[in-house]
Amino acid sequence: MTDHMQTDTLVIGSGPGGYAAAVRSAQLGMKTIVVERGPIGGVCTNVGCIPSKALIAEAHRYDTHKTWRRSGSVDAFLEAQAFKEAIVNKQAGGVKYLLQTAGATIVEGEARFIDQHTVMIKRPGTELSVSFKDAILATGSRPIELQALPFGNRILSSTEALSLANVPASLIVIGGGYIGVELGQMYAKFGSKVTILEGGPQVLPGFEADLVAPVIKHMSADGITIVTEATAVSAQQDTDGITLHYVKNDISHSIRAEYALVTVGRRPNTDDSLGLARIGLYPTSRGLINTDKQCRTDIPNIFAIGDITGGPALAHKASYEAKVAAEAIGGLPTVVDYKAIPLVVFSEPELSSVGMSETACKEKKMPTVVGRSSFGINGRALALQSVEGFVKIVAHSETGIILGAQIVGAEASTLISELGLAIEMGATVEDLALTIHPHPTLGEVMMEAAQNAATKMMKSKIQ
Ligand code: FAD
Repeated sequence: MTDHMQTDTLVIGSGPGGYAAAVRSAQLGMKTIVVERGPIGGVCTNVGCIPSKALIAEAHRYDTHKTWRRSGSVDAFLEAQAFKEAIVNKQAGGVKYLLQTAGATIVEGEARFIDQHTVMIKRPGTELSVSFKDAILATGSRPIELQALPFGNRILSSTEALSLANVPASLIVIGGGYIGVELGQMYAKFGSKVTILEGGPQVLPGFEADLVAPVIKHMSADGITIVTEATAVSAQQDTDGITLHYVKNDISHSIRAEYALVTVGRRPNTDDSLGLARIGLYPTSRGLINTDKQCRTDIPNIFAIGDITGGPALAHKASYEAKVAAEAIGGLPTVVDYKAIPLVVFSEPELSSVGMSETACKEKKMPTVVGRSSFGINGRALALQSVEGFVKIVAHSETGIILGAQIVGAEASTLISELGLAIEMGATVEDLALTIHPHPTLGEVMMEAAQNAATKMMKSKIQ
């Protein structure tokens, strides 16, 4: 039997892109349906940001206290897993609550386009057709599988790696991007012997080497072995573990571990099953959907946001685009501006970046001044026993306008927002240097880095 519903805005997917879009659409007074084939909250809430950060926080507590137990149970990792589950459920409940209070209707099932104004939603034992004025695609992404190392048995994707029942005695991580580094360090802190194989010359590619150095130092203190410029080629699995073969400098090597975790990127969910060809929407060769400054696709009433569009595959980028798309549908002139998307690695120490790096400015031949200050003599960092790291602020050397910033150190994930705001507001290093920061706080290091850049500018004008 096929039931029918009608709506103004149909949102496909309830991840950070989809739920934010549905909430904004409903707030703007449009009748809104959000359809989800899996758990509410998408990857981020269920198998991404939230569970990984819950386990990472538990791993830090365990590493710091070694005897860390929540309730006196004998297995700290099982307790960490239970804690993670509770956090995920709470967050998923929060997403549902947000959607319901905004007035959006949640429909469970898998959507497939019939035409530019209709989808068919497959539900257990029934189908529901929904006609809509506008649709927002927020179908997200899934882990990329290597042909030579298909997921299953001893080869894990990030999803399985977040739900292991025990800490593996040993773990090979293939891919040293942020997910590989975060999960690798988490398991190392719980006691795994971790080896990271990275294809490029450095883990965390995209971050400058001076920023990554303190993270690498910590990783090796955690007992992690990093092998760069290594390509995994094949593996044999048995009941106890996996033997992985890789090539480095044309020489073949083998390593053995209980599990291998493959974190080599994510593929957009824009397959045939969504029926995009029926509406004349064709993804790029990488499966991405092209959009304009309002997140509109080539089909005027269809928008696309989040991991299925270009740019960094991050939750806050998805929810930012969500607001733009919903407001565009609501007739508002909102457009995207990507100059200040923060990137964060929840490693120890944390790493974050916003705007342009010094290297990117040099490549573009922009006249820049770089201000630096370290956490080494910051009173709060001393009290927290977390003095490692520094702040780097990149500004235009003639105007002082802040172009970018990078932080490695305690609370880099939280501190970076101030620099994002500075970039958004067109602030100069003098503005930041003259902003009174409370003492003693980690934020003072940003003020001092700005002061360092301002002083360099002043000196160069005097000379
Ligand atoms: P998703 O969250 O992928 O949601 C898409 C939803 O659409 C899914 O629930 C899916 O079931 C649904 N769907 C797909 N097709 C259909 C269909 N046909 N019908 C109905 N429903 C459909 N990002 C950060 O910013 N910070 C982090 O710390 C961070 N950590 C991460 C850690 C890990 C281990 C992983 C894997 C990812 C992490 N990310 C992080 C990335 C982040 O999770 C994604 O960028 C984000 O979830 C993308 O949001 P989205 O809305 O585009 O899609």
